[in-house]
Amino acid sequence: MTMQEKGNISIHTENIFPIIKKFLYSDHEIFLRELVSNAVDASQKLKRLSAIGEYGEELGELKVKVSFNKEEKTITIADAGIGMTADEVKKYINQIAFSGATEFVEKYKDKGDEKAIIGHFGLGFYSAFMVAERVDIITKSYKADAPAVKWSCDGSTEYELTEATREGRGTDIILHIAEDSVEFLESFRLKQILDKYCKFLPVEIEFEEAVINNPTPIWAKSPSELTDEDYLKFYEELYPMSEKPLFWIHLNVDYPFNLTGILYFPKVKNELQLQREKIQLYSRQVFITDEVKDVVPEFLMLLHGVIDSPDIPLNVSRSFLQADANVKKINNYITRKVAEKLGDLFKNDRAAYEEKFENIGLFVKYGMISDEKFYDKAKDFCLLQSIAGKYYTFSEYAEFAQENQKDKDENVVYLYASDIKGQDGYIQSATKRGYDVLKLDQVLDGHFINMLESKFVKTSIKRVDADTIEKLIDKGINLEAVLSDTEKEQLKTVFEEVINDKSRVVQIEAMPVDELPAIVTQNEFMRRMSDMSKLGGSAGMFGGFPSNYTIAINANHPAIGKILQTSDALTQKALAKQVYDLALLSQNLLTGADLTAFIQRTAQHLS
Ligand code: ADP
Repeated sequence: MTMQEKGNISIHTENIFPIIKKFLYSDHEIFLRELVSNAVDASQKLKRLSAIGEYGEELGELKVKVSFNKEEKTITIADAGIGMTADEVKKYINQIAFSGATEFVEKYKDKGDEKAIIGHFGLGFYSAFMVAERVDIITKSYKADAPAVKWSCDGSTEYELTEATREGRGTDIILHIAEDSVEFLESFRLKQILDKYCKFLPVEIEFEEAVINNPTPIWAKSPSELTDEDYLKFYEELYPMSEKPLFWIHLNVDYPFNLTGILYFPKVKNELQLQREKIQLYSRQVFITDEVKDVVPEFLMLLHGVIDSPDIPLNVSRSFLQADANVKKINNYITRKVAEKLGDLFKNDRAAYEEKFENIGLFVKYGMISDEKFYDKAKDFCLLQSIAGKYYTFSEYAEFAQENQKDKDENVVYLYASDIKGQDGYIQSATKRGYDVLKLDQVLDGHFINMLESKFVKTSIKRVDADTIEKLIDKGINLEAVLSDTEKEQLKTVFEEVINDKSRVVQIEAMPVDELPAIVTQNEFMRRMSDMSKLGGSAGMFGGFPSNYTIAINANHPAIGKILQTSDALTQKALAKQVYDLALLSQNLLTGADLTAFIQRTAQHLS
């Protein structure tokens, strides 16, 4: 029987191909992913048929071969899979595949929003027409006696189906590349696309005589088969040249959704690295995207590695994805796994965990701030580091501070430094009195501190320079000031004149003699507001918040007494200026001409 058939692909859309082209403009390269995936599926189906005894012949080599011919302008994807009979071509290619493509176009053609189309899965075979002006399929079914057939279509709704010859079972998809897509007729370009999408496909892919993929990536294996070496090697394969990760989590779940993957905790060196090495999302070992924003909780985007799940809907819009029940479950699952892993590390080897905390602290804090559930787990293994280097859990520190740092109203005060070198004078004042100072010096710590205050009962957290140490932790012991009220007024006037800045408030206070004659402090609340407005970078709600400094004058310091006793107004001012400059200096606020003048004055004293 010779078969020759011309037909019409029965569909209401006149011509979907221009639309396919237009909407997927930026992503034409995925045609190769779709066609190679189909070839892989066809090969795996045959393997399964063979395994259950439905196919008795030799399986032979099941490789998928990708090749191209620049002169003839063709790209061919050949497999030795199940193939198709003439009837199957009609059913699967003419009807099913076409209706899939039509449905896709119907759904998106009016949206005009290319960004809404992520993943593009489901477009399948017809994505070939993004790059080809004609597509031939030569296929021979695995079923005994089924003749080979050739299907040919030029992108209109008409096709041709004829009898053909083919050596063995399997399918060749031959793309006759359109003029505007000849860029794909280059070896490096094809290799690049295969590397991106097909690197871990489960059947060997051959291109230019070499197998380009690893069909059994470790995330598809059971953790019990794997050694640390394997995990490290895979990391190197994913992100060549990067530093070893700190540790990793092997994700493996079947129910209520299917997900496998490996997430690595990187040793974060800089922001740049974070943007480059992203989590890769796969679906049954086919690379989909490295934009996992809606699938992975935001704070975990700092992690690296691979997530593979066929249960993440891929051809839907962002907002739909966020609302998807599976995606929510996946989110929660990953968060829980990460929390468990951190909890185990903490419990099993606290010393090693503490060593890593410098690097993982950022994840932990970010997670606690952004996810209540994560907070509940992490509160047991998040650490606070004292500037002396000792690490405490929240409860350990609370216990310690209860003992030492309670004020007269039974409030516990945690002290912290955000700049250990810059705030040294203040830190020394605190440690001299037996108080502990925490090191909270990362960008995120501002938010972290706000969150801790909202969680902890009767506890406030203040930076060491937020007030004089007696007031930071007010024990209710009032130091007697040696000065009378008139003397205080007098002093205030002298200093106000010298400071000559209305935004800096002068306060005369009774402090211990061993404190400096004057101290610059910055109210905790006001400073946080001003920090926030800086972070926001705009003149928003807190825009232009002034940084309010208080100049606390130590009434009990001998230098202050000396200022009062000086009758000569000039000498008095010079003394006050020196005291003020010293205070500024210890807060890193003495700069420019004032600093130069201070240095010159001091130098003169040396000669
Ligand atoms: P999907 O793969 O999502 O089902 P496609 O449009 O990619 O949609 O393909 C439609 C159908 O055509 C497939 O389900 C399969 O039955 C058949 N098909 C496509 N490519 C091949 C191939 N290389 N070998 C055998 N069958 C194929």
